[in-house]
Amino acid sequence: MALDAVACKMVAIEPFMVPSTRLAHEQGLGIGDISRIDVLGEDINDMQIEDFKLPSGSASFFRATGLTHLLRGMLVAKPELVRQKCKKCWICIEHCPSGALSKKEDYPSFDHKKCIRCYCCQELCPGDAIELKTPFLGRFVK
Ligand code: SF4
Ligand code: SF4
Repeated sequence: MALDAVACKMVAIEPFMVPSTRLAHEQGLGIGDISRIDVLGEDINDMQIEDFKLPSGSASFFRATGLTHLLRGMLVAKPELVRQKCKKCWICIEHCPSGALSKKEDYPSFDHKKCIRCYCCQELCPGDAIELKTPFLGRFVK
């Protein structure tokens, strides 16, 4: 997580504006506070990429905290379980940074209101049992 925070700093994003970094820091899973991270070698202030351009739409995504939940639900792909592929290893539940996954009826269950769309669950799933579903409106937004 320290690496994520440093990378954010280099491209002029406040690390705690990134939901996964903020929540992981709050839960004690690592250090996201840039003032508490020792960067060895180069001075981080000399390594900032002044003209770094965020992908279209992402800058406003980080800032629009009041609307984030609504827009996220309408536009951003959400993880969903393919039950037939699930091995019930529970890795997804153990590693979800926002506590959006729990065990229900002996399967992982998503609370999409809590989900911050980091997609760690999909990346870590050994059974390829988590798919990303883009909401209808999201298919028209690039
Ligand atoms: S990580 Fe994948 S296989 Fe394991 S419990 Fe979660 S969905 Fe099922
Ligand atoms: S994408 Fe998966 S791991 Fe990330 S917050 Fe949502 S449920 Fe949790």
